[in-house]
Amino acid sequence: MVERLSLAKQILDGSRRALAKGITAIESSRRDHRDTADEILQELLPHTGNSIRIGISGAPGVGKSTFIESFGNHLVDIGHNVAVLAVDPSSVITGGSILGDKTRMQTFSSRENVFVRPSPAGDTLGGVTRRTRESMLLCEAAGFDVMIIETVGVGQYETIAADMVDAFILLLLPSAGDELQGIKRGITELADIVLVNKADGDQKMIAERTVQDYRSALQFIKGRHSAWQPVVAACSSLDGHGVTEVWDQLIEMQLALKESGEFETHRAEQSLAWMWGETTALVLSDLKDDPSVRESVISIEKAVLSGAMHPKLAARRLLEKFKGYT
Ligand code: GDP
Repeated sequence: MVERLSLAKQILDGSRRALAKGITAIESSRRDHRDTADEILQELLPHTGNSIRIGISGAPGVGKSTFIESFGNHLVDIGHNVAVLAVDPSSVITGGSILGDKTRMQTFSSRENVFVRPSPAGDTLGGVTRRTRESMLLCEAAGFDVMIIETVGVGQYETIAADMVDAFILLLLPSAGDELQGIKRGITELADIVLVNKADGDQKMIAERTVQDYRSALQFIKGRHSAWQPVVAACSSLDGHGVTEVWDQLIEMQLALKESGEFETHRAEQSLAWMWGETTALVLSDLKDDPSVRESVISIEKAVLSGAMHPKLAARRLLEKFKGYT
């Protein structure tokens, strides 16, 4: 108990080592580690929520790491503390299996007011969600006032990320074609800021065209917030142009949402969705652990597999077995 409390206190005091330890407990599948993590979180909850939470998504190679490095360096230079968490277990943010190009990110991550944490490999979708949300709270308690949640623009990960941030940035590549890069409309709809990266050298003109194309396309898309119409801009993470402006846009967006009351509502709704997500996960794991459910689950699964029992009836049977649940 003493050690747990002191770990929470060390995190509050800004100890990077304690923060890393806390997140390791969050990531652990061991029950006792999870219990430790829950206690730390409970303790730190009053000290969370004081950051601007930013999601950054885009296809592999679009320049997410380079952007985060350039954007993050700017934020640290103007006095912010920046934490970066990756939502995708296959992310190569740093320390992952693919390094090479990521060395710059490593330089960034070694700066004093920076904390970078890649996703653990092999994490499940549900695991990623829980871990990232909880790790974000720990980083906030440790004094990080800018949270960046990085995700690769594939699968369900960006929806997860969008559900836990205040602002969602989508990075795109300059493209000459009139087809909007085949980006699923759904992802574009999540974005509060669309950035056409690599607007430098030969690509500069094409990037400007892409910006115009997306501006036209987004006019007809209702954004996530009524007080904020998604903006489209070009930037170069390599030479840095357009990068500092992203921060200005985020501040402007935050002000608009706070003024309209949407900022608070949005966070409150995210908490509620989180509660139901946790409830669902807890009930499901307790159901699967329930001795009478376990006793009959194999035969019920067999019956469904062979077509002898309808899945809906099977679900009812399982719940009947589970009705002793308290
Ligand atoms: P990620 O997979 O989205 O994280 O992409 P990276 O940040 O690793 O970048 C992929 C490649 O694009 C690297 O070779 C970068 O140097 C390059 N790159 C990233 N941003 C820019 C940019 O703004 N301009 C140019 N020309 N290249 C860039």
